[in-house]
Amino acid sequence: MKECNGAASSPGDPPVPPALYRPKEEPTPGCRPRLARFLRGNMLVLLTILGVLLGAGLGMGVRPLALSKAQIASFSFPGELLIRLLKMIILPLVVCSLVSGAASLQPSALGKLGGWAMLFFLVTTLLASGLGVCLALLIKPGVGAQVSTGDGDGIPEAKEVVDSFLDLIRNIFPSNLVSAAFQSYSTSYRLELRNASDPAGGYNITSDKVPYGQEVEGMNILGLVVFAIVFGVALRKLGEEGEILIRFFNSFNEATMVLVTWIMWYAPVGIMFLVAGKIVEMEDVIQLFSSLGKYISCCILGHFIHGFIVLPLIYFAFTRKNPYRFLWGIFSALVTAFGTSSSSATLPLMIKCVEERNGVSKQISRFILPIGATVNMDGAALFQCVAAVFIAQLNSISLDFVQIITILVTATASSVGAAGIPAGGVLTLAIILEAVGLPTHDISLILAVDWLVDRTCTVLNVEGDAFGAGLLQVYSDRTAKKNPEDVDLTGVKVDSSAKTLEDDPLLEKDVKVFIDGARSEEEESKM
Ligand code: ASP
Repeated sequence: MKECNGAASSPGDPPVPPALYRPKEEPTPGCRPRLARFLRGNMLVLLTILGVLLGAGLGMGVRPLALSKAQIASFSFPGELLIRLLKMIILPLVVCSLVSGAASLQPSALGKLGGWAMLFFLVTTLLASGLGVCLALLIKPGVGAQVSTGDGDGIPEAKEVVDSFLDLIRNIFPSNLVSAAFQSYSTSYRLELRNASDPAGGYNITSDKVPYGQEVEGMNILGLVVFAIVFGVALRKLGEEGEILIRFFNSFNEATMVLVTWIMWYAPVGIMFLVAGKIVEMEDVIQLFSSLGKYISCCILGHFIHGFIVLPLIYFAFTRKNPYRFLWGIFSALVTAFGTSSSSATLPLMIKCVEERNGVSKQISRFILPIGATVNMDGAALFQCVAAVFIAQLNSISLDFVQIITILVTATASSVGAAGIPAGGVLTLAIILEAVGLPTHDISLILAVDWLVDRTCTVLNVEGDAFGAGLLQVYSDRTAKKNPEDVDLTGVKVDSSAKTLEDDPLLEKDVKVFIDGARSEEEESKM
């Protein structure tokens, strides 16, 4: 016979008195505490989702009032505030996290992590581009589309492909760090008239397109990223002399993250008004879908397949962990990307989410995510490929194999140059069209629907960065387990209990030795 508490009794055992013959109760958590724990753990995600739903409802409710532009601007004000807050934090966050991240890693670990991250970013962006081209060739969004190309307002100036890539390289090396915080370099053209003598002895007036450089509005985040990494490496190289500055950047970074925590709690309200404002302001959606519906669906379907199937599969294949649990962990950041259409603005929340909910260490997240937000744009590459094939179909131009490969390669490269801001990808779309000889005036069509496509595009852009950070964390954990003596990557561990500077995982062993040394000197001098 088996007792209720699980212990077996034999026939020789003394009889158990009835009062003691009560089953031992296992303290199983009831439904309510579990629900309460779930709500507490996921409060921000749930509030963010609620923000989107309420925003959609509010937008639908206010839309029939036909507000004027000024009224819509006032109505969207809380949303605008969220974007301003997030933008405010980007500069200190990117610079401080990269300097302290680069300074806290051994140069070889930095190289390994950076190399794997770049490989992951490159492969996934190429896959996204391939998916975009395949879907566009299958769905044929441009065949039979009833569209007029408009007056060409807002189309970015078509740049020579070479100049576009040279600008990208120029921006990696900003000539002025202060102006890089709000301006980037861009080549423009002016026509210069020239008198040329012709063979018949007369004169011909010809015009030359002369390139000239100018600083345009918009943070040169690529230049700042590169500078911050190199500066961090240089600080580490200084050894003891660099410690004060490393500590300065560490604590600046931590303080910035505290600000991010506060901003996060405002995000649901901001997102609610961003969504509501967009719904109020949006043009006739039915007409939009009837003319460009196939193009929009093709892009959104591509973003969905890449974000919910391809990236999770890659993550699962390498980690054997549930990728959808990982996605749930970053859900509020994904919703913020949807609401703001900006990877840069989503960066602060993404760092918080991957560290606190997905267990990615500070060194990895704060080093990889700012780089990812700047150079890794799967969503942009995918929609740019769809757009290029769409424009070719609109103009009845059939693309040959070489042109398709050119689209894949230039879309992957130009997505690196795309800024993590709303419509950042449309601005670099001209590079791809120029490279394959497609008309650039049709970009106005892409612009007309970009407010919608850009949302799923940005979600995918930031999701790719987060999966990259998650994969690197698993890689560094495995390396640490297999070769504990490999100081390069075993240093990349998180210690959330670190409270004092000496415990800070961003400071490695040699830094701690320096602090200890300084302390014992101080104690000796007191004695
Ligand atoms: N809005 C996108 C982002 O911030 C860039 C794009 O337009 O493709 O990631």
